[in-house]
Amino acid sequence: MKLDLLNNVALITGGARGIGAATAEALASAGATVVVTDVLDEEGERLAARILAGGSEARYQHLDVSDEANWERVIERTVAEFGGLHVLVNNAGIGTMPDVETETREAWDRLIAINQTGVWLGMKHAIPAMRESGGGSVVNVSSIFGAVGGFGGSIAYHASKGAVRLMTKSAALRYAREGIRVNSIHPGFIDTPMVEQVKGTEVEQLIIANTPMGRLGRAEEIGSVIAFLASDAASYMTGSEVYVDGGWTAR
Ligand code: NAD
Repeated sequence: MKLDLLNNVALITGGARGIGAATAEALASAGATVVVTDVLDEEGERLAARILAGGSEARYQHLDVSDEANWERVIERTVAEFGGLHVLVNNAGIGTMPDVETETREAWDRLIAINQTGVWLGMKHAIPAMRESGGGSVVNVSSIFGAVGGFGGSIAYHASKGAVRLMTKSAALRYAREGIRVNSIHPGFIDTPMVEQVKGTEVEQLIIANTPMGRLGRAEEIGSVIAFLASDAASYMTGSEVYVDGGWTAR
């Protein structure tokens, strides 16, 4: 079955690179008009230009997901330019390693502001526009580390991704009768700039050894599932948590 997102306007956060960029490409190739947002303006503009050159409609807009006024501006501009909003992919995120005792208050607050509060703000400001557009689909990017404890570190990351998992279910129930679906996706370790810091180290070997499929995932392998969840091919899915992790959580 070919995914069909024709006549859909899709906004993706953290879309300039990694999983976000692969998702923007997947949404565009399914026919969506894609609004790529990020804080990396040059990379985001480049991606939007590449998608446009490939024959799909795309724009880049600066959006720091932790900034509520920025959300208001971006949603308003998107609706003004494209006439509606049907898909929101809350993908922006940062990763940090500190455990319970080595975490600092400052780093904790920053991560929670982006990974957790940013997802709530996105739903808060996008959902009214989706309702006005006749319904839609939200895909929140959590992680395997929103469900399991991993290596006992990354305390703030686990807190934020666990919250994304349950905010998804709460919002799914709230909007189930309004034609707005909300699902979470839980990637395993994916080869993006986020895992650059562990590439070539023992940690990478440990990750590969713990991944039943024996390799990192590719960003496209997440983008394709997000595009599926965004589309009507997933029309009876809401509140679901979808694991795309090479088998990690099957253990
Ligand atoms: P990445 O670092 O390549 O991309 C993250 C993007 O988010 C970047 O473009 C970055 O500029 C953007 N971003 C950071 N702070 C932002 C902010 N305040 N506002 C807007 N954008 C911001 O990483 P990725 O691997 O592509 O990660 C994408 C998502 O997938 C994240 O939510 C991450 O937690 C999640 N994830 C990644 C993996 C993995 O192994 N790579 C695994 C599970 C979940």
